[in-house]
Amino acid sequence: MTVLASGSKGNATVIAAGSTTILVDAGMSCKELLRRMAQVGEDPGTLNAILITHEHLDHVAGLSVLARRLKIPVFFTEQTHRAWVRMMTPRTTMSYTKWLELMQREKEVRAEQTAAACAPQEEIGDSGDQGMEAVSVEPLSDSAASLEADATAPKVKADPAFLPAVEYFRAGHGFSIGEIDINPFTIPHDAADPCGFVFHARPESIRMAIATDLGYVPPNVKMALKHVDVLLLESNHDLEMLKDGPYPWSVKQRVLSRVGHLSNAAAAEFLLHDYDGGAHTIVLGHLSESNNLPELARLAAEQAIGDRMSLLGNRVVLATQDVPMDPICL
Ligand SMILES: [Zn+2]
Ligand SMILES: [Zn+2]
Repeated sequence: MTVLASGSKGNATVIAAGSTTILVDAGMSCKELLRRMAQVGEDPGTLNAILITHEHLDHVAGLSVLARRLKIPVFFTEQTHRAWVRMMTPRTTMSYTKWLELMQREKEVRAEQTAAACAPQEEIGDSGDQGMEAVSVEPLSDSAASLEADATAPKVKADPAFLPAVEYFRAGHGFSIGEIDINPFTIPHDAADPCGFVFHARPESIRMAIATDLGYVPPNVKMALKHVDVLLLESNHDLEMLKDGPYPWSVKQRVLSRVGHLSNAAAAEFLLHDYDGGAHTIVLGHLSESNNLPELARLAAEQAIGDRMSLLGNRVVLATQDVPMDPICL
């Protein structure tokens, strides 16, 4: 497991086993993702697929460009894919005045068409085309308009949501990519259908898990995180720092909610009471830059793990936003 970035400005992690390499989330520009992969010695050419946890920008910012560049499939849940497509498809909102104008123009076009009904054939065609343009070009972007014009045409690259291939998975239903078995599990977070993952590297019989972007740790997540060798766990904020911090009250409430982010205290609570103590390494991730300090996150986790921490197991490391972490190789 190599965490390329973790935090609210971008998330991406490489999971590799045997001849299979998967990128989990692509939350930075394609250029930056490729730069970071080069930095840690990962060849982008070996990536087999991209797997998406949820559609928030810090997890998908470079997705379309990277997937197109590498021509590899993207795995989503269907709801996450739909939410992402909606997000990628530009929409313009129309003011009431503009809507009235549009209605007026449509009315004029219809009147012209009726008037032209007695005229020679060519003229009907002309006015018809103008009518179509007047109606459809205005509210839609070029790409959306061209798709609308011919829905059966192969999706062109101008479509911002175009991907070389899309595969769907469902939370609770395992699937495989090459030599890696993947178990997606539902996490409580304010996205369409957010998931965490457990990866089972068949050749080495190693299990790695990613559980970030969750408001709390529900029973299904506790179950999923049993018997893992490497655990990337969210330790987003220090409660006091968040309360006194710079965020507006509404954002504070969102972060603190049951569908927000996991605090240092909640991560520690999980490690103390629910974690089975069997991991080689625990990676703390998605740390807030405004509402947390690496030392506080580490301290909370290390206190919770207590004397279960040793040279051979339960090593605590921190993933950061700015630089890729050293690969964890088992
Ligand atoms: Zn996130
Ligand atoms: Zn999120």
